[in-house]
Order: sequence, then structure tokens, then C-alpha cells
Amino acid sequence: MSNRDVTSAIMPPYDTIIIGSGPAGLTAAIYATRANLKTLVVAGAVAGGQLMLTSDVENYPGFPQGILGPELMELWRKQAERFKAEFIDDNVTRVDFRSRPFKVWVMDQLCLGKTVILATGASAKYLGLPNEERLKGKGVSACSVCDGFFFKGLDVAVVGGGDTAMEDSLFLSKLCKSVTIVHRRDSFRASKIMQDRVMKTANIRVLWNSEVVDVLGNQRVEGVRIKDVITGTTKEVAVRGFFVAIGHTPATEVFLDQLKSEKGYLALSPRDGLSTATSVEGVFAAGDVHDFRYRQAVTAAGFGCMAALDAERWLQAHGT
Ligand code: NAP
Repeated sequence: MSNRDVTSAIMPPYDTIIIGSGPAGLTAAIYATRANLKTLVVAGAVAGGQLMLTSDVENYPGFPQGILGPELMELWRKQAERFKAEFIDDNVTRVDFRSRPFKVWVMDQLCLGKTVILATGASAKYLGLPNEERLKGKGVSACSVCDGFFFKGLDVAVVGGGDTAMEDSLFLSKLCKSVTIVHRRDSFRASKIMQDRVMKTANIRVLWNSEVVDVLGNQRVEGVRIKDVITGTTKEVAVRGFFVAIGHTPATEVFLDQLKSEKGYLALSPRDGLSTATSVEGVFAAGDVHDFRYRQAVTAAGFGCMAALDAERWLQAHGT
């Protein structure tokens, strides 16, 4: 144990330690502090979550003209700070949930919490193409629900063959002129029902055995270069939107040896009326770290609220 561990360990534990500072974490912080819980937010070295990478947010309620993602997160954080949540802008390096109070290390600093709310989120996977990176927010997106509206009446492409790609394509097909799904194999891994819906939709077409090898356009996406993986030939397809739907990576690595998970996401174990409970009593999860279904700022915020209320009720029930 380092000297810093000894100093921190004799500090009284926080009522709750929230790990993550996206919509779920900051909403949990607002609700926890307003319930008079002594609250620490371990915000992460890159604080603010996925919205920090987004430009216009038009679907967050309360902003009729829309708002920039980073601006929204700044306001959100100020709101949490107003109610005296403490913040550490660094990453959690280790946790120990085997005994209470729970132990959370931020580098070599040990923090103790009577409860913990995990809100570390998940990040979308991208293909890793240089022009894909350059054109993010200018036609390249990993969220059809967030950005589909910007491509109303236009041609778009979706890459991927899982449920997310199917769901995104169906959603986009209602807004866009046409949707081209580009998939690297000759069959989808998505559920049969989703595949069927896609195949029955008139303005969706599928390019099988195909990979996107470049995203084209200077100021904004103008098209994609697609390679047939069997013949090796390439062609350009003109699209204005390029949606990457090849999966997400939940930020759960630090917790996976202590909590039950499902495909890398934290598994919830609702009990005693506490819907955000995890497999360890007193540890709760909120937002994209467990929710692969909705993945929206507003749903993450809802889960953050639920987790804070659950933590408060759990503390009351356990007389701490
Ligand atoms: P997923 O099931 O892992 O599918 C990812 C897809 O992207 C696969 O088709 C994969 O191709 C493709 N892919 C991966 N890396 C690629 C690359 N570098 N280049 C090109 N293609 C690549 O991910 P998901 O669709 O996000 O779904 C994640 C989980 O959430 C799944 O369990 C899914 O069932 C669930 N989910 C459920 C629903 C629902 O119930 N409505 C909705 C969304 C998601 P291969 O097939 O060749 O590997």
C-alpha cells in the first residue's frame, strides 16, 4: 500500500462514487447530491462521454434550436458541481467490490464508497480509415437515431451485418431516399426477424462480400469506395451519409472480474425493486455500460437518475 493509499483510506467513505461523466454519470451526480449523498464523480481522463464527440444534438429535450454536444456536457457538469459533487478528472485503474466500503483506485489514490454507480459508457467501433476519421460529424456517424434526420431524402450507406446495422438501416429507410448496406460476408449475423424486415424494404439494398475501403469527400461525405472481397474490384457509390454499425465496446474492462457481464456489457440483476442493481449488492450500473439497446443521451440520463435513486434507497435499507 502506498502512502497515498494510507491517507485516503482513513478518509470517511463517500455515500456514492460515480464512475463516468457522460449523461448517465452526471445525472446520477445531480440526483445523488440533491438527495444529500456525499458524492464523488471519477470523471475519466477524457471527461463527458460520447457527446463530447458530437456536434449538433437536436434530439435532447429542452433545446428547441439544438445544442452542441460539448456545450450540453459543460452545462450538465456545472449543474452537478452546483450541488457540490466532487470531481476527479482521471481514470479508475482498479476496483475492489469484494468487501464494503468499496474500494476504487484512481491511479494510486484510493477512494472509498458505500455504494458505487458505474456509468463508464461504451464507444462505437469504427473501421479505422483515415478519411472516416476526418469526416466524422460531416457525414460519418455511428448513431442513426442521432444523425439520420440530417440525411432526409438523401442516399446513405450503412456498414455492418448485425442487429444494429439492420435497425439503423430500417430507421434510415424511413427518412432517406435509399440505404445501401455494405457487408463483408455473404450472410448477416443479425436476428432472422430483423433480416427479413430489411430484405422486405424497397429502398434498402445489400452489397454482399463487400468492404468500405475509403470514405470520399472534401468538406463532407460525397461517397464511399467499396471493394468486392471475392473479385478484388472496387467501385464508388455516391452517398451523403455513412453510418458505421459494426458494434460497440463497453468500457467495462476494469470491472469484468468482479461483476457479471453479458457480451462485455455489465449485466443488471434487478432485485428488491432496484432495477439498476448489478450482481454485487450496493453496486449499480447506468447507461450504455449495460444498455446496448437504446444508447441515447436521454435514456442514459434516465438510467443515471434511476441508479442514484436506487443507491439512495439501498443506503437507507442498509442503515448507512
Ligand atoms: P454485432 O452483433 O457484433 O455485429 C457487428 C457486425 O459488424 C457484424 O456483422 C460484423 O461482421 C460487422 N463487423 C465487425 N467489424 C467489422 C469491420 N471491421 N468491418 C466490417 N464489418 C465489421 O454488433 P451489433 O449489431 O452492434 O450488436 C451488438 C449486440 O447487441 C448483439 O448481441 C445484438 O443482437 C444486440 N442488439 C440487439 C438489438 C435488438 O434486439 N433489436 C439491436 C441492436 C443490437 P461479421 O458478421 O462478418 O462478423
